[in-house]
Amino acid sequence: MTLWRVRAFILLLAVCCCSYLSAQTKPAADLIITNAKIWTVDKARPQAEALAIVGERIVAVGSAADMDVWHGPQTKVVDAQGRLLLPGFNDAHVHFVDGGEHLQEVQLKDTTTPQEFAERIAQRAKKTPKGEWVTGGDWDEQKWSPAELPTRQLIDPVTPNTPVFVNRYDGHESLANSVALGLANITAKTPDPPGGEIIRDGQGNPTGVLRDAAQDLVAKVMPPMSHPRRMRAIKQAMDYAASLGVTSVQDMNPSYDDVKAYSELQEKGQLTLRIYVAPMETEWKDQAKIGIRHAFGTPLLRMGAVKGYADGSLGSETAYFFDAYTDNPKSHGLLSAEMHPPSAMLQRLRSADAAGLQICIHAIGDRAISMTLDMFAQIEKANGKRDRRWRIEHSQHMAAKDFDRYAQLNVIASVQPYHAIDDGRWAEKRIGPERIKRTYAFRTFLENGVRLAFGTDWSVAPLSPVWTIYAAVTRATLDGKNPDGWIPEQKLTVAEAVEAYTMGSAYAEFQEKDKGSITAGKLADFVVLSDDIFHIPPSQIKNVKVEATYLGGKLVYGGLE
Ligand SMILES: [Zn+2]
Repeated sequence: MTLWRVRAFILLLAVCCCSYLSAQTKPAADLIITNAKIWTVDKARPQAEALAIVGERIVAVGSAADMDVWHGPQTKVVDAQGRLLLPGFNDAHVHFVDGGEHLQEVQLKDTTTPQEFAERIAQRAKKTPKGEWVTGGDWDEQKWSPAELPTRQLIDPVTPNTPVFVNRYDGHESLANSVALGLANITAKTPDPPGGEIIRDGQGNPTGVLRDAAQDLVAKVMPPMSHPRRMRAIKQAMDYAASLGVTSVQDMNPSYDDVKAYSELQEKGQLTLRIYVAPMETEWKDQAKIGIRHAFGTPLLRMGAVKGYADGSLGSETAYFFDAYTDNPKSHGLLSAEMHPPSAMLQRLRSADAAGLQICIHAIGDRAISMTLDMFAQIEKANGKRDRRWRIEHSQHMAAKDFDRYAQLNVIASVQPYHAIDDGRWAEKRIGPERIKRTYAFRTFLENGVRLAFGTDWSVAPLSPVWTIYAAVTRATLDGKNPDGWIPEQKLTVAEAVEAYTMGSAYAEFQEKDKGSITAGKLADFVVLSDDIFHIPPSQIKNVKVEATYLGGKLVYGGLE
């Protein structure tokens, strides 16, 4: 070949390759959602009308016309009918298997007569596999007339072979049937344990109701959760989450049996949400010794975090404060068992951090939060600066000096706004008018440049994102006494709440490049709502329904046709 011919050949080759490539780089979309009101949580393009998806990822976000180039003969086009479309909600703090177990337990709270109570237990016993117990319930005899405690005689005839142990809604009392009392060996001769009472009839025989510590007598003979039951609980929890628009959860303190079940579901292609697990910090070596670091895993199932406790809760007066409780001047609350002594906790967390694990610490009282920040600062000093994304779970009652420290150490405030409208009914009585100003201080966090991640603590609080957003935006306590907001200066806007629930939570699990906004290249996890929460009165946000939930471009709940 002459030089001229070689050049011409190369040119021809280049032209062919380019046209070949450009034909290949625009595959047709599998799915286009159009006519939507998209709130992207992406500052580069806050709003859009349509999006295109190839496989499990978003490939384009823009106007309806922008999607034309992605339209192929096989593309499915869905008309969102002008509805609001948001990134899927990412709940940064759940107890997922507990939640699922709670869903599958018998529900007794709304029974209005002892007969209805017995009938529901009878129905449940019929469906309960041999060897399993009927549990849960949350019954409330105050709804019956007369308001008398239930007895084993009420349910024994319908549960001759199934052990039953159902709790009162406040957890202070439970009813056991005769099968359960037999398994626990509780008779007329059994003495009341310290801190508990076996309720007895006129002849001294147990009625089946066990109060406080006496409940342990039965609880300790209950079998551990079986694998099939755990799998059922998770599936039920996943269906429930999808119905609420939750596409990711961060599971606090799962057991390794839970992780195993998630892994099995992933292998079967049955995970319908994404899970990041944070087992107990006391077990940090388990992950560290095999080289697992933060956010290790697949887009569906990851680990590499540890979760610990610094104190208790405000409700049980075990949140740990600098100053005494206003309604109990003798008590400052309590540090957790893990913090005895704090130096042991520090040593474990420092090692976990050195191994590259992410650290999430439950801290509620101002002093527990301060001590946690002290530990974080010491660990950073020992192990050097790094993008480690410390998390303080709950971050409820802040000392004024500590907002700044969150920002300096890049600590994420992982908060649950529903607790604010729940505790807001009585919190002031407990901690007084001064400390209350820095309680659930979401706005002050943002003003100090602290990142928020939203969650619920389900099943302690409802899993519902619309309730969480409603709580953050209105701060209207559940008793209806603060319709304009409890500590209203801490209210967030809808946009701030949505961001904390999507990008904020994604950042808290090192996934902001893959999730948290409607952006080309990210996973196609999104939700379509019945109403535009940006434009309805905030008081109505809690009533908004989820029309459709998509995970990785696949419909996992509802539908728009
Ligand atoms: Zn929790």
